[in-house]
Amino acid sequence: MDKEKLVEKMTDTMAKLIDYSGKILPDDVYQKLEELGSKEESSLAKTIYQTMFENQKLAKELSRPCCQDTGVLQFFVKCGTNFPLIGEIESLLKEAVIRATKQAPLRHNSVETFDEYNTGKNVGKGTPTVFWEIIPNSDKCEIDSYMAGGGCTLPGKAMVLMPGAGYEGVTRFVLDVMTSYGLNACPPLLVGVGVATSVETAALLSKKALMRPLGEHSSNERAAYMEKLLEDGINSIGLGPQGMSGKYSVMGVHIENTARHPSAIGVAVNVGCWSHRKAHIIFDSELNYTITSHKEAKI
Ligand code: SF4
Repeated sequence: MDKEKLVEKMTDTMAKLIDYSGKILPDDVYQKLEELGSKEESSLAKTIYQTMFENQKLAKELSRPCCQDTGVLQFFVKCGTNFPLIGEIESLLKEAVIRATKQAPLRHNSVETFDEYNTGKNVGKGTPTVFWEIIPNSDKCEIDSYMAGGGCTLPGKAMVLMPGAGYEGVTRFVLDVMTSYGLNACPPLLVGVGVATSVETAALLSKKALMRPLGEHSSNERAAYMEKLLEDGINSIGLGPQGMSGKYSVMGVHIENTARHPSAIGVAVNVGCWSHRKAHIIFDSELNYTITSHKEAKI
């Protein structure tokens, strides 16, 4: 296939995936909501979960986004150096977002900063956001796509702590964010925590943490233990579904980390809402693809 046809094929696939993932939640999120819904005891919490599932059913039947805020599209791209479209990915993702905006349709969420106008296409200067990882000697391309809504973006926060703050300082920072801004996203929440050497590395990891499948824990035993402690701590706040109180505030807490400078602890929090619209797709060099986030996906 010539390059033009390959570009068209990948653009079309990504546009359809974006459209689909704005309507159908990924399998892990849906299952987690079912699990949490079945464990809530108050009739209000149970009713809210029923409403969420009714919303999912109608989104599918009517082919409409499951939340009105379809977000700014963000992509985490892990691309092999031998993938044939490595040079075309950014521009084709932009085109895919424009197409999905019409097809789905998606709400127009890209406002040019300072010029203050909405482009009407969900693309603009630097949007959609594309984060890159280059994989040597691979001919595959893996993409996590995420709809970053206004509500779930608001609780994001990052800072660098003094080294003496230690892991207690990290815990305090996360809990402060969750008790002050947490409700700007619709619970139950997925909480991403980045612990790294500076403010920008921690911030990026905290968003990356939201792409990890629910139920998977950090491969570092101590970080995994901290995920559990933070999850219990945030649950005890009692946000419940939609912040209307309940036993469970979160779908999970994911920590991602790097090594750090000994005199600094960069920490960041990023929050996904119950309508956590992420998708994960892997392309081979001929653009055959596997969607791992939605087993039933037909696009
Ligand atoms: S926080 Fe999530 S569910 Fe709530 S309005 Fe925003 S995108 Fe929708």
